Amino acid sequence: MKTALITDAIDAVHAAILAHESEIESLDRAIGDGDHFVNLKRGLSTLSAMREELLPLAPDFALQKMGMKLLSTIGGASGPLFASFFMAMAASMKTQGDDGNAAVATAFAAGVESIKQRGKAGLGEKTMLDVLIPVADVFSRKTAEHAAMPELLAAIEASAEAGMLSTRDLVATKGRAAFLGERAIGHIDAGAKSTQVMISAVCRMLEQSQK
Ligand code: ADP
Ligand code: MG
Repeated sequence: MKTALITDAIDAVHAAILAHESEIESLDRAIGDGDHFVNLKRGLSTLSAMREELLPLAPDFALQKMGMKLLSTIGGASGPLFASFFMAMAASMKTQGDDGNAAVATAFAAGVESIKQRGKAGLGEKTMLDVLIPVADVFSRKTAEHAAMPELLAAIEASAEAGMLSTRDLVATKGRAAFLGERAIGHIDAGAKSTQVMISAVCRMLEQSQK
């Protein structure tokens, strides 16, 4: 893996999040406190501005630096969670390497595991993890099956979409929405939506680069 892929992914994710501003904002306003888009925007513009500083670094060092920076720039529940995701990915790449889909899938799974631990949350709690956990599973499974790139990307996108939609009918047991009890039913979780948008943006960027 090359670090330029990480910086290109940041740009793709940044553009996709900006394009979904009103949707993410209104979801977090419905069952959160309405700051999720602003938190993401701040984090992503910080990461975009780091491009030149990241490019000379090996992927694991770049991810580590991104995580550290996010800790001090994004607020809310989501800031430390995204920060721990990048730092755990960095740690995995340091020991398991970063070459090939299997190594990236292993690092992604380590990142998701770190979010689970830091947020003390799992599947079905109406958070970003309802997207991340199934995506990590399908990423590892398809990679183990040596699926071709288009099939792998399509499976990841479909899984992110299904995970995001699954949060609509859940009661939240973590985060601010947990205070609403049954009233959160019928609303998609903002963090699940933004995570699906980010994953889909990276998949589309990779699809384009295949052509
Ligand atoms: P805050 O909730 O502090 O306002 P944000 O609005 O930036 O922070 O992020 C809210 C999102 O964070 C939620 O939509 C949810 O997806 C995610 N989230 C909240 N708590 C947790 C947790 N314990 N584990 C995983 N994700 C969480
Ligand atoms: Mg919020």
